[in-house]
Amino acid sequence: MAASSLSELSALAPHPLLTDSHGRVIHDLRVSITDRCNYKCVYCRTGEAGAQYPELRADEYLRLIALFVSLGITKVRLTGGEPLLRRGVVELVRELAQMRTLAGEPLDLALTTNGHLLESLAEPLKAAGLNRVTVSMDAVDATVFERITRIEGSFAKVLAGIRAARSAGLTPLKINCVLLRGFNDDQIEGFAHFAREENVVVRFIEFMPLEEGRLWTPQIVVTLKEIVDRIGRTFPLVEIPPRDPSETARRYGFADGLGEIGIIAPVSQAFCGACSRVRLTSDGKIRTCLFSQVEHDLYGRMRAGAGDAELRSYIVRTVLEKEARHHIGEPEFLKPSRSMVHIGG
Ligand code: SAM
Repeated sequence: MAASSLSELSALAPHPLLTDSHGRVIHDLRVSITDRCNYKCVYCRTGEAGAQYPELRADEYLRLIALFVSLGITKVRLTGGEPLLRRGVVELVRELAQMRTLAGEPLDLALTTNGHLLESLAEPLKAAGLNRVTVSMDAVDATVFERITRIEGSFAKVLAGIRAARSAGLTPLKINCVLLRGFNDDQIEGFAHFAREENVVVRFIEFMPLEEGRLWTPQIVVTLKEIVDRIGRTFPLVEIPPRDPSETARRYGFADGLGEIGIIAPVSQAFCGACSRVRLTSDGKIRTCLFSQVEHDLYGRMRAGAGDAELRSYIVRTVLEKEARHHIGEPEFLKPSRSMVHIGG
């Protein structure tokens, strides 16, 4: 959209345009740019399923993202699948870095990756305009890690990726670890050491029922309380107040001031009331919640020839219907048709 029409739009609507019927302002878009992944993490993949959904061309993602930005999105996170498998990811970031929010600011541009290909891509991504990366890493012990990813040599690759991202200035560098009882919960204390030694923010994520197979039970979830109690026994922790209400992680600093951990607790302490996110899948469907039972075919409308105004109004109507909350652990809970890797985490 031309700069003049963008400013006209913001003059018409001084308040953010993307709000849902529960009064939440949506300013965060997660875009999956492929549902292919080079890892087969045991808690995520069955090991048999590959990519299941098509990918759009880069210019198609850019047009759809620009529409969201014209409606008030300020933060875009690229994800997948594994986004670094996508050819042209650096050029895509470069184009996104040219976009401006309604306030005329650059986008807050982030990417979530397993880190396997990050060592050589960290510098080019930073130079292209990426602000931050989050690297997923589910163990600090190489053997445990490779048992989870089912890829030999993966631990060394990811560690090199993390260090390259830190040197490139893709900071603050966050490491996301999904904890499953009996799989990797023996890594909790090791991660506390890792956070301090590597100068990264480790964020533990409660396991959600979004796997390809059927693994999830309430008992397998390692809860926020348990994590805080266990780390606190080795390193006393002090809770840090949230910077903004839509922050997903509860933050804790080590009492001696050396570093920080975070805990994302969608299961034991759901944060749906402060959710500011929508997702675009690799095949161009809007998902208003990870646990949506319906998808909204934005790309289908674009391919059928819809103009920007029509697509914008479709986005506004879709976001308005965003679900109030998820129902994990409740009797009426239904698993969504796509698993995490095919939605975009
Ligand atoms: N391949 C990239 C990566 O590994 O970060 C991006 C996609 S991956 C699906 C995004 C994040 O979702 C990862 O941190 C992964 O551990 C997490 N994840 C996958 N399945 C999950 C589940 N069932 N519950 C919670 N987090 C999950």
